[in-house]
Amino acid sequence: MMFGKSSKINEFRLWGLMFTLFGMGLMILGTAGIVFWGQAGKVFAAIFMVIGMIAMLASVGVYFWAGMLSTSARIITCPECDRQTKMLGKTDRCMYCKTKMTLDPKHATDLDETEEIEESTQPQV
Ligand SMILES: [Zn+2]
Repeated sequence: MMFGKSSKINEFRLWGLMFTLFGMGLMILGTAGIVFWGQAGKVFAAIFMVIGMIAMLASVGVYFWAGMLSTSARIITCPECDRQTKMLGKTDRCMYCKTKMTLDPKHATDLDETEEIEESTQPQV
């Protein structure tokens, strides 16, 4: 993903926001098309409106998904900043200080960006 340095829940919210802004921008452009281009603009307006609506629906979907995920997230206290944060899966970042945290002992010392390190340390068969 583009925004690798925040917690997963914040990342979903960011994607939701991006879709919302994208959809709104397209719908505004579509409306502007009717105003400034008259009859010819209506075709563009219709296309922009449809794409804008899809983007808005996608953003609702992303927000809904983020909400579903956050109900299954574990609430833990961050060892770095002592604040309560939500954790998705076995590795996630703190929502406040972006510290990478893990519940899996195999990843405990792996503070790199690469999460596939364990594969390279396994013996080749
Ligand atoms: Zn923290």
